[in-house]
Amino acid sequence: MEKTIIKDKLNRPLRDLRISVIDRCNFRCQYCMPADQFGPDFEFLPRSALLTYEEIERLGKIFVSLGVEKIRLTGGEPLMRKDMPILVKKLSAIEGLSDIGLTTNGVLLPKVASELKAAGLKRVNVSLDTLNDELFGQINGRGVGTGPVLEGIEAAKQAGLGVKINMVVKKGLNDTEIIPMAEYCKKQGLELRYIEFMDVGATNGWKMDDVVTKKQIYHLLKEHFEMEPVDPAYYGEVAKLYRYKDADVNVGFITSVSESFCSSCTRSRLSANGQIFTCLFNGNGHDIRNFMRNGATDEQIAERITAIWNGRDDRYSDERTAETHKTRKKIEMSYIGG
Ligand code: SAM
Ligand code: SF4
Ligand code: SF4
Repeated sequence: MEKTIIKDKLNRPLRDLRISVIDRCNFRCQYCMPADQFGPDFEFLPRSALLTYEEIERLGKIFVSLGVEKIRLTGGEPLMRKDMPILVKKLSAIEGLSDIGLTTNGVLLPKVASELKAAGLKRVNVSLDTLNDELFGQINGRGVGTGPVLEGIEAAKQAGLGVKINMVVKKGLNDTEIIPMAEYCKKQGLELRYIEFMDVGATNGWKMDDVVTKKQIYHLLKEHFEMEPVDPAYYGEVAKLYRYKDADVNVGFITSVSESFCSSCTRSRLSANGQIFTCLFNGNGHDIRNFMRNGATDEQIAERITAIWNGRDDRYSDERTAETHKTRKKIEMSYIGG
């Protein structure tokens, strides 16, 4: 497929698309959808507001024609959307797309892992912040132990999906789990990625003091393991990777707070109701759903996406201070997709 390469104001190409397929979730993780803010009365998007699978497929094709090579499905909890393998099949058939992945809390994987694989999914990132059942129940806000997630990981492995583990580290909450998680993942042959706690949205009570930085985690790991750096596999790779010297297993860091990587950020996000966000920390999105539903042609949609990307100058993490998170209006991560 002929691709048009489009660049933003800081000369960054559009390469990745994260699609949030649903804003709902079966967990209430403290750092993402705190239970006191996302209670029984919280108004989630009605079904009619969500992009249909046909609309997502259409937009996916247009995004790929504008340079996107990788798509990641996320949410909310993407596996709460019915018939996800149908969407995966549609997207994986798009010519010119080299990779399709999914980020999930893992609980529903045992039901669908093999169908997802058969539909063309290559990889899953499963979020797991501790191996301690009680602590995990507190973090996910639903009292769910680690068992269902570990079963989900096993199901994904059995289905032949690549599996990576995401662990958000928050000071005083789960920093004691850094080494146990490294030991577990190394033994299981799973790449673990430590994610610095971020000031996404406005509900998670973020403070700079709660962030455990890559440097701190790395020094702690060094006391237990011998590691060597791994070169980035491609331009814009988000994780800083290391390999254990005595095992063919990587361990990585998402350093969004302590070592920002905006200068090579090639990611666009599509929310479940069809708004385009050009940064995880945007306050407002650009509507594409209504434009599409009102009869825009593929060419007109491509022109609109191009104009949005050409006008992009986001670099929130480069500019972050202890104060910016209070003054900037930011959309919730469960809405726009992590
Ligand atoms: N529900 C799925 C899951 O948990 O994997 C997908 C959506 S979730 C928003 C995507 C990723 O964002 C997860 O790995 C989650 O741990 C991470 N995340 C959520 N809130 C975060 C925060 N405040 N700081 C850093 N990472 C966060
Ligand atoms: Fe749900 Fe994922 Fe957010 Fe946890 S991090 S509340 S699992 S969307
Ligand atoms: Fe990309 Fe925005 Fe994150 Fe910077 S802050 S890396 S521009 S999403």
